[in-house]
Amino acid sequence: MSGRCPLCLCLTASSLKEDLLQVERYRAHIDAVELRADFLDDPEAAAAARFPAMAGLPCILTVRRPVDGGHYRGGEAARRSLLHRLLGAGRFAYVDLESDLAAPDLEADASASGCAVIRSLHDLDGTPADPAALLSSLPRSGREIPKLAVHVKGMEDLARLLPAFRCGTQRGRIVVGMGPHGFPTRVLAPVLGGSLAYCSVPGMDAAPGHVDPEAMDATYRFHRVGPSTRIFGVIGDPIAHSLSPRIHNAGYDALGLDALYVPFRVDDIAAFLRVADALAMTGVSVTVPHKESVVPLLDAAEPPVRRIGACNTLVRREAGSGWTGHNTDVEGFLAPLRRVLGGSVPPGLRASVVGAGGAARAVVAALAGEKARVLVLNRTAARAASLAGEFGVQWAALDGNGFGRMAEFSDLVVQTTAAGMEPDVTLDPATGYVFRGHELVYDLVYKPPETVFLKRAREAGCRTVGGKEMLLSQAYAQFRLYTGRDFPREALGEI
Ligand code: NAP
Repeated sequence: MSGRCPLCLCLTASSLKEDLLQVERYRAHIDAVELRADFLDDPEAAAAARFPAMAGLPCILTVRRPVDGGHYRGGEAARRSLLHRLLGAGRFAYVDLESDLAAPDLEADASASGCAVIRSLHDLDGTPADPAALLSSLPRSGREIPKLAVHVKGMEDLARLLPAFRCGTQRGRIVVGMGPHGFPTRVLAPVLGGSLAYCSVPGMDAAPGHVDPEAMDATYRFHRVGPSTRIFGVIGDPIAHSLSPRIHNAGYDALGLDALYVPFRVDDIAAFLRVADALAMTGVSVTVPHKESVVPLLDAAEPPVRRIGACNTLVRREAGSGWTGHNTDVEGFLAPLRRVLGGSVPPGLRASVVGAGGAARAVVAALAGEKARVLVLNRTAARAASLAGEFGVQWAALDGNGFGRMAEFSDLVVQTTAAGMEPDVTLDPATGYVFRGHELVYDLVYKPPETVFLKRAREAGCRTVGGKEMLLSQAYAQFRLYTGRDFPREALGEI
């Protein structure tokens, strides 16, 4: 396992035939397979020696115990006997043996059949104190490949795990961070020096956090990245739904840039900034709930960040230097609006902004900067009052009285709340407002592409703008800040 990091599909069906179907389905994206014989029905497991020849790809043999997250129920003696028979009869490229399994007979079987040993340790409960030292202690000889798979529960754990990618034997090392916070280790394995990365068939995740082979390849550029790749990313919580990796990575692909954009589920920004140092990152997108809490950690802030008190983009010249905060939401909101309005926002435009959260701050700041006359409405009226007070605009509660006042501020209606966003797509935050058809209506929610609020506006004859336009505009601005290049818009397919 030297050189390029192979992408390995974990096979967890109950029959060899079903496993083979998955190999055929994903063959174009994968370099190796792991036959999880602990998932096979008994007669199938007994016949598994023929699987490497059927698959036609390097094959790892694994019979995982329940204590390590596996499904083998037959007891330890039966497990060893199965491993012995399969290693004797099959042509497996690798066998996964646990670190506490003293089994010279199985090592001899492996050696006799030209099969390398992956020496693994799984910690399903957490990340140990010194993962690098632990990984180094695993191999029983320099011919073995140590594998450490641990449950990463937060950024502190991830920061501690990353140095393990620099340890191992001359045969390599496999480091896996399980769970949502460990996700970056899966897609960064080829960049950080990992010797193998695992993926699963969608819906059959063999371990927490597995990604499907197509996404590993297409979204995370698995076969186009390596040790020289620059790492960018987005931080938030939750983050799995973010479309930003698809947008930025498609841009790197189109321009042939050696870069990778990774989502980080972040519970602790200070710990994440240490991770960013370890990964030599120079550009980071910031989303809910960190846009405001990141501001005190900045070394410098562009004027929109100071004005709004929120930052969605961190940039630095080189790894190790200080972070400058930018806010591309303001320009991201304005660019589609200007396009629809024929190039600019007319001064005195009367606008209602529904919501008073983080997104509303950027919208109100943008509209106030364009000399629009703004009314902020919010479910929690005090938040509307506070936001309006900061920017010197009008406010109202999101109730019958407020809906009445919206009529005076109805050239533009901007919906900035999370209401109507997946999964609860039936929510409409302003059912009491009746569109009259002359309004331009802009909804910041981008999933679904048309909320019930926006549909109601369109059906009343209004011109509408969906949240995807802002999402893309702010991402294009970030792309330029990170890479110095314009985003290749024509290359972006449907997202
Ligand atoms: P946030 O800071 O948590 O604010 C949420 C806002 O939504 C608050 O004003 C809240 O009112 C209101 N709200 C939530 N549920 C509501 C409901 N059922 N009825 C009425 N009001 C409700 O979130 P945020 O950062 O502003 O994000 C809000 C939305 O904008 C999200 O859907 C986000 O995806 C979207 N967004 C899109 C883009 C883009 O590029 N298109 C950029 C940024 C944000 P209370 O104060 O009463 O709780």
